[in-house]
Amino acid sequence: MSELRLNLITREWVVIATERAKRPEEFRKIKNKKNLPEYLDTCPFCPGNEQRTPDEIMRIPYGDSWKIRVTPNKFAALSPEVKRERKNEGRRHIITGFGKHEIIIESPIHNMSIAGMPVDDIAALIRTYRERFDAIYQEPGIEHVIIFKNYGEGAGTSLLHPHSQIIGTPVTPLQVRHRIEEGMRYFDNTGGCLMCSCLNDEISDGRRIVLDTEHFVTFVPFAALSPFHTWIFPKRHCATFSSITEEEVKDLAYHLKTILLKFYDGLEDPDFNYIIRSENPKECASEYFHWYISIVPRLTQTAGFELGSGMYINTSIPEESAEFLRKTKV
Ligand SMILES: [Zn+2]
Ligand SMILES: [Zn+2]
Repeated sequence: MSELRLNLITREWVVIATERAKRPEEFRKIKNKKNLPEYLDTCPFCPGNEQRTPDEIMRIPYGDSWKIRVTPNKFAALSPEVKRERKNEGRRHIITGFGKHEIIIESPIHNMSIAGMPVDDIAALIRTYRERFDAIYQEPGIEHVIIFKNYGEGAGTSLLHPHSQIIGTPVTPLQVRHRIEEGMRYFDNTGGCLMCSCLNDEISDGRRIVLDTEHFVTFVPFAALSPFHTWIFPKRHCATFSSITEEEVKDLAYHLKTILLKFYDGLEDPDFNYIIRSENPKECASEYFHWYISIVPRLTQTAGFELGSGMYINTSIPEESAEFLRKTKV
């Protein structure tokens, strides 16, 4: 029988469709991935084409060249050039398209992937995320900052050169507000952090854990939204990604590499998105939130039911997905 599971952190009900569930290996996508070259002269992110991106914000140098570059997005969704202005016209509420939208070019190599990068290079990428995250929060008028990666066309990217994005918005998204409100309600009732409690439950249950090290736990949540939906949680309670320590950076780099390599090998290089969910650095000491990374492989499509209800149907069983990932040796 199918069952509905409640994700306590997001308050989303998920239908775990056991009747329709596939075995983990059935989610392998054998697709005709184009064999990408190491270098593409028409790619604006490849070395030698630096003049094709807007003025560089920062770089991690490597010899005469670079390892990581950060630039404004040429096709920015939100722009710092725009003055933040609020217009309320009757019941129509409008804010000008003010904000920040940056691109983090993760590697000079066109066909590199995070799964294939050395752990030290992934650690440098995480440090770059932190530096830009902090800097964008310093900008007046920015309410929220989201770091994310779209990998593959199925995850919404058109430019295949490895890159992440970071957007600062002039409003706080509803999803973030909901999670904080839930955290606050839980704290009122118990005096503790909802996410620390969920993490401790996951650790003591053990069935959905993929990787557990000194500072982080990677697991498939009890009410995973979609097949192989995965969370990486820091064990140390803190509301903001900004607080990550050097030791934690290295451990997180190891988790990211390991889980993405397990996806790459076990599921045949699926498209995926990942998002760093975090509070504002000013809220570092808050008990109402706990930063984490959410990774969603794009193995199935959402359809009318999800659009119409905001509830997801997951055609995999989280315990089986986690077991499959644990057994995928990398
Ligand atoms: Zn390229
Ligand atoms: Zn916590």
